[in-house]
Formats: sequence, C-alpha cells, structure tokens
Amino acid sequence: MDTNGDRSLASAREALRDARRVVVLIGENLAAEEALPEASEDEKTENSVITSLPEQMATIDTFRRDPIRLWRWYLWRRMRITSAPRRTWPEALGELARRIDKLTVITENVDGLHGRIGVPCLELHGNLWRTRCTGCGRVREDVRTVYDELPPACDHCGSLVRPDIVLFGESLDGSLMERAYRSACAADVFLVLGAGGTGEPAGSLAGYAKENGATIIELDVERTPLSTFVSIFVGGDIDHSMDALLARPPKDEPG
Ligand SMILES: [Zn+2]
Repeated sequence: MDTNGDRSLASAREALRDARRVVVLIGENLAAEEALPEASEDEKTENSVITSLPEQMATIDTFRRDPIRLWRWYLWRRMRITSAPRRTWPEALGELARRIDKLTVITENVDGLHGRIGVPCLELHGNLWRTRCTGCGRVREDVRTVYDELPPACDHCGSLVRPDIVLFGESLDGSLMERAYRSACAADVFLVLGAGGTGEPAGSLAGYAKENGATIIELDVERTPLSTFVSIFVGGDIDHSMDALLARPPKDEPG
C-alpha cells in the first residue's frame, strides 16, 4: 500500500480506537450479488424472470399483478446468493462489535450477509430471507430456494405471503429510518463500507453524522462522490481494508 493509504489507515485506526459510538453503514457495493457474474444466456432462456431488471420486477405493482412472477424472481435471487463467494468483512465487523461500546450497523442490502456478525442491524430495505404475511402481518425466517406452491400462503391465516422487502413504489420504514438518523447524529465515527456514495440514504446519514461532529471513514474500492466529503478515505479491496483497519491477520484463502 502507498504512503497515503498507510496514513489513511493509521488515522482511521486512531479514530476507531478513541470512539465509543460507531455507526457502520453497509452499502450496495457489498451486496452478495455484486460479486457474481451476470446470468448466462442459457440461464436466461431457461428462466424468463432473470431478464427482468430490479426496477421492473421488485415493485409493488408486480406483486399485486403477478405475485408468482415476483416470487420466482426472489427465489432465483436467494439461490444466486447461496453461491456467492465468501467475503471476510462480516467477520471483521463482528470483531469491531466486540471492541466498541456501542456499534450500530445499518445496511442497504437485503442479502442477510451482515447476519453473520451477531449484532443487530437496521435493515433499511428488508431481508430476502424473511417473509411477511399480507393478512396477519406475521414475519418469518425462510431460507428455502424452492417452494412447493406459488405464491406461498400464510400457514396461520391463509393470506398471501410476500418477501419482507421494501419494494419499488413503497416507502422505507419510518421508525427504522428514525433510529438510523438518531444513531448517525450520536456517532463518534461513521464508517461507510462500499456505499458507492451516490445513493440515499447513505449520503444524508453520513451528512447528519458529520454535522454532529463524527469522523466519517469511507472504505471502498475506489473514490466515490462521497469521498470528497469524508474525513478519511481508504481505497482498495474492502475485505483487506477491514482486516488492516482492525489489524486482523489477513486470510489468503477465505474458507
Ligand atoms: Zn397470515
């Protein structure tokens, strides 16, 4: 790593060492699916839902019009995520949680990868591995990639069950956002991992944290629009940067 990178890492370590309240925002560049290749032409021919873009498929309109199609698309995504290469940043985050008095994790991703760290997480867009009943509202963990029957029905009340995800055309959960903003405002350090820097709410949460005196640290592969505004930018592979930040021994072969 170059001297600038070393300096940034040293500053980031120092900020974390003195911090009591830390917020970590996990951005969409760390989504499991980012690491996967595009679906092949064969896959697309075999399964027509694959060709649909998230903006067309993951909408409340699709769910109302054709819940089977929406479910086929989400089951395909569950399947894909199970084959994503293993990353080490979730373990590093778990290590950080053990060192910090109060760590709040906020994620924009629905893949559940953050679940490995064993600390509660504000999942702003929901979780692909949960369902919610449209009738009685029951929320269930669900790790299946195949259902006997589509669309699935609630085993309690028989109503239609949906992915517990915020679809296009729906609002983010106000109480979750409130908690995210409150944590951001109270943070000593606001650590942004792979947010890409263009999307909301990453930008405004980081903005609130900065206005309230937090040190903003960004780890990303390369500089993003957010980088001009952060206190410390650490570039390069995020797994490696997290290990370096916490002085964890690097793992050559994530197992
Ligand atoms: Zn129900």
